[in-house]
Amino acid sequence: MGLAAEPDTTRQGELALRIVAAMRGAGEPDTAGVEPARATLASAGPAGHGWAMSDHALPNLTIEAAWREKTAGSEKLAAAAAELFPSGITHDGRHLKPYGLYVDRAAGAHKWDVDGHRYVDYYGGHGALLLGHAHPEVTAAAQAALGHGTHFAAGHPLEIAWARAVQRLMPGAERVRFTSSGTEATLMAVRLARAFTGRRRIVRFRAHFHGWHDHMTSGYTAHFDGSPTPGVLAEIGAHSVLVEPNDVATVRDLLDADADVAAVILEPTGGSFGMVPNRDGLLADLRELTAAKGVLLILDEVITGFRVAPGGAQGEFGITPDLVTLAKILAGGLPGGAIAGRAEVLELLDFEKAPARGFEKIHHPGTFNANPVSAAAGAAALRIIAESDACARANASGMWLRRALNEALAEAGVPWAVYGTFSGFHIFTNPDRRPIRPTAFDPLAVPWPELKTRQGAIVHRLRLAMLLAGVDFNNWPGGFVSAALSAQDLADTVDAFREALRLLKREGDV
Ligand code: PLP
Repeated sequence: MGLAAEPDTTRQGELALRIVAAMRGAGEPDTAGVEPARATLASAGPAGHGWAMSDHALPNLTIEAAWREKTAGSEKLAAAAAELFPSGITHDGRHLKPYGLYVDRAAGAHKWDVDGHRYVDYYGGHGALLLGHAHPEVTAAAQAALGHGTHFAAGHPLEIAWARAVQRLMPGAERVRFTSSGTEATLMAVRLARAFTGRRRIVRFRAHFHGWHDHMTSGYTAHFDGSPTPGVLAEIGAHSVLVEPNDVATVRDLLDADADVAAVILEPTGGSFGMVPNRDGLLADLRELTAAKGVLLILDEVITGFRVAPGGAQGEFGITPDLVTLAKILAGGLPGGAIAGRAEVLELLDFEKAPARGFEKIHHPGTFNANPVSAAAGAAALRIIAESDACARANASGMWLRRALNEALAEAGVPWAVYGTFSGFHIFTNPDRRPIRPTAFDPLAVPWPELKTRQGAIVHRLRLAMLLAGVDFNNWPGGFVSAALSAQDLADTVDAFREALRLLKREGDV
């Protein structure tokens, strides 16, 4: 796959183009020359919900003042939360200044705040909601499971259906072990790899995210030299080797020089779902190098799994890892994760097979492993993904949106760029004012720290401006594109982006 912004030439990409072409035939927005009606915030916003910002109101309101005016209910709850939670939030990714949105309910591509305003949602449950919010079949499956009890402290049929659904989409998942989160899955992956190989070191790529446990904290948003983050022992970090994104030569040298490497782990489309993209062929190179040295290849498909294609990135790129870590879409929007892969590695968790092969069994409890409600929701979501074009539709919408947002940037003369692959998009806010053309932007030509760590305060201002216009982008800044978005949602998003750029310009931000 060409991991530069566009064009997208994968099988998924071709399918995506066909779907967009079909949408165009049905009177949907045109991918080539996006010209949706230029709605003002008043008309694009949540009509009938008691708030609309018209051009008349703008001269007297800064973005922040307009936000406070629109979201009195959220502001009140944020004040209460500030007394309860550090920074008033329960996940670092929800940090927004002066305060974030408080949501009352969600359905399909939309969510509604406590003041009654509707937003087109690109936060997508931190990536868990490829099918959109409250998909009827997933919800029905979860409700039915809930009615049968939430915890049996025993095996149950739903966990078997759930694991089979994983195997159906990822045939390399010879064995599966469920966890409660992606962080637990990568923690177990590291432990299994070390125990299986008898080696200590884990090779990671800077800017790739694998959850927040002690082995994965340095080198994601900070501590790129591998120094320990607060509260983490230096000895733990010392056994993680951080490599520059895409630097296969260094991985090769490392594996040649160091017989103590247990595994290489990476996000298969790049750090933070491709914010720092992988170059073409990286996965195949790493597969070959690791296989030659008996080093395990761990694909962290917590985001890409069941999103970029029904079979995840491994299906899309034709690479079978030794281990795959999963979460998010896996559990249909409920908590859940999994580690899956080669039977002989997963068997280190097996009471009989581990000792029979001379290994000490790895202990793995976890009160909510494979809980029946997550299992029901997850199995339902994976069945829909296997049997529908949900991934392809989300990819098509992602491609359409990247193009349309870039055209909006070009029109507005803003030197930013929107890039990404599959059903994700990232907004490069160009901290060094590089001479770029939004419609021909190649993120691989930009030093990765600029893509990843240099976005600054503009992210909060952009998000606020988009929220004012009725769209929730995430903090990358960018978003997850779901299969639930309609052509109207996409066109509204582009209108909102135009309005947001206008507001930011007016306040001197761009
Ligand atoms: N790995 C990747 C690639 C992720 O994106 C995430 C979370 O965003 C994780 C691991 C951690 O998953 P969780 O948030 O379920 O612990």
